[in-house]
Amino acid sequence: MPKILVTRKIIEDGINLLLSKGYEVEINPHNRPLTREELLERIKDKDAVITQLVDRVDKDFFDVGKNVKIVANYAVGYDNIDLEEATRRGVYITNTPNVLNNATAELAWTLLFSVARRVIVADRFMRTGQYKGWDPLLFLGKEITGKTLGIIGMGRIGFTFAKMSKGFNMRVLYYDIYRNETAEKEIPAEYVDLDTLLKESDFISIHVPLTSQTRHLISERELKLMKNSAIIINTSRGPVVDEKALVKALKEGWIWGAGLDVYEREPDFEPELSQLENVVMLPHIGSATEEARRGMSILCAENIIDFFDGRIPRTLVNKEVLNKR
Ligand code: NAD
Repeated sequence: MPKILVTRKIIEDGINLLLSKGYEVEINPHNRPLTREELLERIKDKDAVITQLVDRVDKDFFDVGKNVKIVANYAVGYDNIDLEEATRRGVYITNTPNVLNNATAELAWTLLFSVARRVIVADRFMRTGQYKGWDPLLFLGKEITGKTLGIIGMGRIGFTFAKMSKGFNMRVLYYDIYRNETAEKEIPAEYVDLDTLLKESDFISIHVPLTSQTRHLISERELKLMKNSAIIINTSRGPVVDEKALVKALKEGWIWGAGLDVYEREPDFEPELSQLENVVMLPHIGSATEEARRGMSILCAENIIDFFDGRIPRTLVNKEVLNKR
């Protein structure tokens, strides 16, 4: 029977599926990620691993985990995994697309509203007893309705986020390396180059994966192109935005505000961010709904079961691995 390691406690639906097949399942007993040493020790005798985005899956991982045939990443992004190395060694890599689209898109909207209406500072104002009565100039924010929305990366989450704008009667622009004709028809979204999107959008939301091309895609030059009334939201991966440049932009008023779920060096972040009132910061909770996390748990298990039953895992990332068989 296959031996599976789950590197962090997850919602149990997926685990129960694995157990119902008779697989042996070992779960990280700690309420923290496994240290590198613990991870390498525990994968030695495993056939499959359910990994988290903090687990680095690289050459050393495969050297030690010689029996590991499939790694099911508990995330849609897989920038923690050396895909080429996995493929070279014939190891299958899967992710969890779609089940977290609504959760992540809804969190991007949560951030946008929170920044635009200054919700977090206003809440703090109440809790600290500063509210002395209605004030016509208190916490003036920005309206969303009728404005221009810029989406960087019109993939699964970008498109879900864009569809949710329909009630707000917005002009929607997008930039991507590929055209998304469905989004162009259904939203309707307008395809533009990155500079045009930056110059014309009131609100910008980032939904690209982290790759060598998207690292620091938003840097000083791009932030300077944005309107000084603009808000930028990042629920993709921290390194897509140059965090030092973002601090400068927020401090010096090149842009109006930012909403962040992800950071360049998690769990660390530029310390000055926490001093700024025009930024809302969340601890990487994009997919943190019961529905999405249950879906992710089940999908990881289904991918592993597909593999051991001799089928192609349903959300296989490195399809080239099939040529290795
Ligand atoms: P996706 O692959 O469906 O969409 C990504 C889009 O980005 C695609 O349309 C792709 O063509 C485009 N793209 C890729 N490289 C680009 C580039 N260099 N320039 C412009 N566009 C580019 O992925 P998805 O399922 O929508 O997820 C997007 C990302 O969101 C994930 O990779 C992950 O890093 C992040 N994410 C974060 C959380 C969170 O908890 N905050 C949750 C889920 C996903």
